[in-house]
Amino acid sequence: MTGPAGQPGGVTVIVIPQPTVNGPLHIGHLSGPYLAADIASRAARARGERVLTLAGVDVHPNYVLTKAENLGTDVGELVRTYRGQIVESFQQARIGWDFFLDPQDEGYRRSIAGMLEELVTGGTVPMEEYTLHRCADCGRTLHHSYVVGKCPVCGTGANGTSCEGCGGFTSAQILLDPSCARCGGPPVEMVHTVPVLHLERYRDRLATEWLQAEWPARVRSVLQQYASAPLPDVPLAYPTNWGIECGGPLAGMRVDFPTELGLSYLYGPAQALRPEARTLAERVQAWEEVDGVWHFNGMDNTFYFTVLYPAILAVAGVPTAKARGAVVNELYLLEGQKFSTSRNHALWAHEFLAAEDPELVRLYLSWDRPDRYESDFTDASYRAFCEWVRPLLDRGPLAAAPVTPPDLPARTLPTALAAAELERAERALSLTGFDAALAVRSLLAALSTGTGADSVALAALTGRDRRPAVEGR
Ligand SMILES: [Zn+2]
Ligand SMILES: [Zn+2]
Repeated sequence: MTGPAGQPGGVTVIVIPQPTVNGPLHIGHLSGPYLAADIASRAARARGERVLTLAGVDVHPNYVLTKAENLGTDVGELVRTYRGQIVESFQQARIGWDFFLDPQDEGYRRSIAGMLEELVTGGTVPMEEYTLHRCADCGRTLHHSYVVGKCPVCGTGANGTSCEGCGGFTSAQILLDPSCARCGGPPVEMVHTVPVLHLERYRDRLATEWLQAEWPARVRSVLQQYASAPLPDVPLAYPTNWGIECGGPLAGMRVDFPTELGLSYLYGPAQALRPEARTLAERVQAWEEVDGVWHFNGMDNTFYFTVLYPAILAVAGVPTAKARGAVVNELYLLEGQKFSTSRNHALWAHEFLAAEDPELVRLYLSWDRPDRYESDFTDASYRAFCEWVRPLLDRGPLAAAPVTPPDLPARTLPTALAAAELERAERALSLTGFDAALAVRSLLAALSTGTGADSVALAALTGRDRRPAVEGR
C-alpha cells in the first residue's frame, strides 16, 4: 500500500465481491468482477497509487444452508468444499488481495456483531417494531433464499435479496405474491423489535455519493428510481436460523448478510490500516486514510453497492462520502446459454484453470469481457485465441511473422504505432473508464510488433507482476 517515495496519498479501497459458498466459481464469475478487480488493482499499484484490495468469501447468506439441505449434506462440509474450490480458483487465476474478509474467523464475527451492537446502544440505529414474514407451514423467517415472488418494480421473479431484472432491492415485505421458496407455504406477518436502518434519513449523504461517483449507465437508471421513490427501511438483524449471531441488545437475532457485507467493508480497511483498532470509533478513525471506494460487482447488486453499503459507512460515522464508482458487468454465456448449476451447464473455474495456462485464461476472459453486453464463451473461440496469442507471449522481438492469408500483404501493426497502443492499454486499466477488453486489444497489437513484453499492461492483465502473497486458505 505504499505510494511512490515521498507521496503517501490516500488509499483507494477496491472491493472484490465475496462469493457465496453455495457452489464453486465458474468462468462466468471470473469474467465479471473477479479478474477485473484484480487487474485494476495491479495496474493501480504499478502507477504508484495506494490501493487496498478486499477479497473474501460469504458464508452467511441462507442460500448456503438451502443448498446443503437440498443436497442432503452437512452444511459445514459443504462450506469447506466450496470455500476450498473458490480459494483454489483465486490462486490459480492469480487473483490477489491485501485483506481477506473471513466470516469463519472468530475475530471477524465478533467485530461485525459488535459494530452493529454499538450502533444500537449508541442510539444511531433505532430498535423498532418491524413487520417480518414467516412461512405459515414450515415456520422459517422469509428472507433471501427462503422467499420467492415478483419484483415490485419490473415484475421479474426474484428471491428476497435483489432483482436480477432491474438491480433493485427486494425483500419478503415488498415482493409481489411472495411465498415460501422452500415449501410453498403462504407468508404470515410477525412483528419483532429489531434494529432498523431508515435509508431515507441518509438521502442527502447518498445523493452526494451518487453525484460524485462514476456509475455505468445501467447503474444510473437504478439510481434514477431511487431519486424519485422513497428509500426502504431495512432491518439490519432479526430472528432467523442462519447468519452471525448477535449479543447484547440484539441477543436472539442474527446479522442480515447484506448488513454484514456493508460492515465488512468498514472492518477490512480498518484492520489493514490500524490493526489495533477495536471500537467502532477507532475503526472509523482508520478511514481518515481512505480516499474512496470502488466496487466491482454484477448489475443485480446495484442497490447494495450504491445505497446500502455507502449508507452503512455513513451510519457508522465515516464523515465524508467515499463512493468513487463501480465497474459492473452483464452475464457471460456459455455456448449461447446461461451458466446453470442445476443443468450442469458450466465450466468450473478450478477445473478449467487446472488444465489451462492462467495467463491465456486471464487474457481471453478480459478480451471477451461481458461489460457492455452479454458475451458468449465458446470453446472454439477460446482455442483460436490461444493459438493466436500464445506465440505473442513467448516470442522476443521480431519472431515469427504473423499469420496472414497468402494473397494479402502482412497487416501487422507498424512498429511506429506500438507506443500509442501500449499507452492506450495502460490507460484503459485506470479505475475511471476501466476497459479490460480494450486494454487486451491494444496490448496484443503492440506485442505483434515485438514490443510490450515488459509493459505494465501485460503484467497486470496476465498477473505476472509481484503481488502480496496470496494466503493459503
Ligand atoms: Zn415454508
Ligand atoms: Zn426488478
